[in-house]
Amino acid sequence: MPGMNGWRNFCEPIRGNDSDLMQPNSVVFLIGRLVIGQNGIMSTPAVSCVIRKIKAVGGIILTASHNPGGPNGDFGIKFNISSGGPAPEGITDKIFQISKSLQEYHICPELKVDLSAIGKQTFDVDTFKPFTVEIVDSVESYAEMLRDIFDFAALKELLSGPNHINVRLDAMHGVVGPYVKKIVCEELGSPANSAVNCVPSEDFGGHHPDPNLTYAADLVNTMKGGEYDFGAAFDGDGDRNMVLGKHGFFVNPSDSVAVIGANITSIPYFQKTGVKGLARSMPTSGALDNVAKALKMQLYETPTGWKFFGNLMDAGKLSLCGEESFGTGSDHIREKDGLWAVLAWLSILATRKQSVEDIMKDHWQKFGRNFFTRYDYEEVDSDAANKMIDHLQTTMSAKAFVGQKFSSGDKTYQVEKADNFEYTDPVDGSVSKGQGLRIIFSDGSRIIFRLSGTGSAGATIRLYIDSYEKDPQKIYQDPQVMLAPLVDIALRISQLQEKTGRTAPTVIT
Ligand SMILES: [Mg+2]
Repeated sequence: MPGMNGWRNFCEPIRGNDSDLMQPNSVVFLIGRLVIGQNGIMSTPAVSCVIRKIKAVGGIILTASHNPGGPNGDFGIKFNISSGGPAPEGITDKIFQISKSLQEYHICPELKVDLSAIGKQTFDVDTFKPFTVEIVDSVESYAEMLRDIFDFAALKELLSGPNHINVRLDAMHGVVGPYVKKIVCEELGSPANSAVNCVPSEDFGGHHPDPNLTYAADLVNTMKGGEYDFGAAFDGDGDRNMVLGKHGFFVNPSDSVAVIGANITSIPYFQKTGVKGLARSMPTSGALDNVAKALKMQLYETPTGWKFFGNLMDAGKLSLCGEESFGTGSDHIREKDGLWAVLAWLSILATRKQSVEDIMKDHWQKFGRNFFTRYDYEEVDSDAANKMIDHLQTTMSAKAFVGQKFSSGDKTYQVEKADNFEYTDPVDGSVSKGQGLRIIFSDGSRIIFRLSGTGSAGATIRLYIDSYEKDPQKIYQDPQVMLAPLVDIALRISQLQEKTGRTAPTVIT
């Protein structure tokens, strides 16, 4: 199959729509036209953009996302609905049900599509005459959308004017390479060496295309040299991003969306649409909450998963959102968008004429700082993981737990609230229960535990620590030092090490 990490089809139905998929016993999708990105390559944000633009009934994305790809790697199939966003559970469940009762399928071996030739190709297939396959430029529709959102003249001045900054963008061998080359280098004038690993590869060059400090270590090391003012990395399908400043200054994803929120008027799109609301996933740090409060904007806290943001956007309630897992986006499409986030940051740099580090430090001075970290304990014995969670739930539900004080080092935290996060969608009223155990302290600091994948390969326990500090003397201190007391308290309350035998997390982000 060509382009393991990006073979994208958009389906235009002869009849049928999203709601038909929800009907029992109806098989109504007769697809007469497919739209495919040239050479089978298209980023996830571009897929969302094109679905919306051509009013397709949906899109199919074949992608390993941020995981290792290729014959021995990951491979996923995503279905996005006509809004351009990931299909909600009601639809994926229905697809699964139908898949179990399929009686037969047919293959047209003679139907040979030239994926490299832009234009329409038509075929005579039994029911469809003609059946149309349209190969489109993978970048153009998406680039056109970005030109409407951002001030390209200002960005061009920033990247190639007399006082230009130097940027380093790492596509990590994923599909976003051609987008970076065309938009940032060709159109905005950044030199060719600002973009690296831009040829999409089926196995991502044997690497793990996850834009974080561990897997984008090459970029981090290059940035430490001081030659570049701004750096960013993207995941395999281009929806995630990591932002770095000069000398490798790391912008935490929770801070990234907060900075964009606080400087949202630097982006012309929001000057036109106004700011309808801000949102973050529950485990994401409360940095965005501080912005929403100060600027009197509505703030939504949702379960993890972009579909929750999409619902709010479709209802006109949400403009900007982010997740701690390196996802940032807005209501211009219905997916997170790595390159959009980078142009958002560059717009802020162009407006404020400050370095990434100075912008971040000014932000903390103004709003306080949420020190944040996530510990992943992977492949934990499922029984042990469940026992730990049971123990934690029992501890948290004890009457005396709320109000209890916990100390570590010179810090003392008092429990204000303890629960298992539950979300009622303000649009459709649907309730999502059991989204993660939260211990919230009186200063806004939080400890969160989430358990996932209790299968044969074991469970993953994720521990999130969100420690708020408003003392200007302390906000520049080493995050690991600042987070240590709350990590210690989290491990004590949960007895994670005793219950699971695990002394160290497998991944720290
Ligand atoms: Mg992805």
